[in-house]
Amino acid sequence: MRYISTRGSAPVLDFEAVTLAGLAVDGGLYVPERWPSFSRDQIAAMAGLSYVETAVRVMQPFIGDSLDEQALRDLCTQAYGRFDHAAVTPLKQIDERQWLLELFHGPTLAFKDVALQLLGLLFERFLAPRDTHLTIVGATSGDTGSAAIDAVAGRAKVDIFMLHPEGRVSDVQRRQMTTVLAPNVHNIAIKGSFDDAQAMVKAMFAHQAFSGRFRLSAVNSINWARLMAQIVYYFYAAVRLGAPERQVAFSVPTGNFGDVFAGYVAAQMGLPVARLIVATNVNDILHRALSAGDYSVGSVSPTAAPSMDIQVSSNFERLLFDLHDRDGVKLADTMRAFETTKNMQIPAALRDRAAALFTSARIDADGMAGAMRRAYQRSNEIIDPHTAIGLQAAWLSDLDPSIPVVTLATAHPAKFQDAVERATGQRPSLPARVSGLFDREERFVVLDSDLETVENWIAERATPIG
Ligand SMILES: *Cc1c(COP(=O)(O)O)cnc(C)c1O
Repeated sequence: MRYISTRGSAPVLDFEAVTLAGLAVDGGLYVPERWPSFSRDQIAAMAGLSYVETAVRVMQPFIGDSLDEQALRDLCTQAYGRFDHAAVTPLKQIDERQWLLELFHGPTLAFKDVALQLLGLLFERFLAPRDTHLTIVGATSGDTGSAAIDAVAGRAKVDIFMLHPEGRVSDVQRRQMTTVLAPNVHNIAIKGSFDDAQAMVKAMFAHQAFSGRFRLSAVNSINWARLMAQIVYYFYAAVRLGAPERQVAFSVPTGNFGDVFAGYVAAQMGLPVARLIVATNVNDILHRALSAGDYSVGSVSPTAAPSMDIQVSSNFERLLFDLHDRDGVKLADTMRAFETTKNMQIPAALRDRAAALFTSARIDADGMAGAMRRAYQRSNEIIDPHTAIGLQAAWLSDLDPSIPVVTLATAHPAKFQDAVERATGQRPSLPARVSGLFDREERFVVLDSDLETVENWIAERATPIG
């Protein structure tokens, strides 16, 4: 499989190169040259497969010659062997037609582990024969950071520099990053928002005088391999609920549009997805974009679902690329204008095309707390604030009642103990795998939200090329 940039002028790469690269040099995001697809029979044949076998089938077309099937199977076995549930991503029925897909059984208790555990192994595998050192630079609204750090801590040939917005991640989230003391792990608290941190990471990639000195790589969902690994659980869940005979809808708590874009790809590959519900909190740029065509950046309001406190959703560009009939040159103009004005109006014709698959909902603090309470009182389920936003959107949706709706449960409730306790009166306890978190030493630096300051700090510690 070959990969092209959404802005049409970066080199075409294979899977191995795209995994190591992150953002394209023209500022775009890499996508496969075409969407692979499965026939109904091929999807029907996934019934009863284990998570690992489903993963091998779904991902192999994207990987092509970069890894043979057995090597891919070995990596998946290793990555998903670290999950503490035999089904890796178990489905749980919570009322007549609503289901939760629990994606938080990995080492850091959020869905980011599903992709990042594999990505860490892919990095190691692809770097082993090379004489290069990778410098991962990332921004996190909470969960990517800990999942990425867990996936690469202590690995040779990789350094990770992770930026998080100071004071805007939960204590558990921060400690899961800052208590990892491996020498290749560097945590930076930025005096600013997640969007400030993410914009700085993008600027570092685009800034040749900086990026030319290191082999920079990304672990944010701009990295294609991450999205690829997330396509798997859409197939796994839908097949268990009767696909390809039966249509299935998904409700996805959304921030950077990565997780829900993976659902879009699953649909392009032939999975009968009836609807993708894009559930946002009050940071609702995606809801405004999909419902009214208004993709304009507001200011970020901190909420109890911090991993969704995002205004600019990087992966939305990947959807826009398809909506622009994959005309990268045209999209590059549109994106440059957006980067200047912070405003894009999506023409009605494009919006209508998106509406064939996507709907959206904006859930405020009351809706979120109400969903946590209702799930607990009616179904005895303790859910986290992000999952609650997805579930509330699923409950509000006007889909045909014969269609099952799967809400992606993106984080373990214990990651957000205070918010869960406020809503339900129950304080979820930390699973054994992270107990002791509050007794460990933390290490991080606090820096101003200033590109030069952050670049200099990283440059003093990263391994240069050659
Ligand atoms: C990252 C994250 C999200 C948002 O996912 P995107 O891929 O950025 O849309 C939602 N919930 C949790 C718990 C997360 O960690």
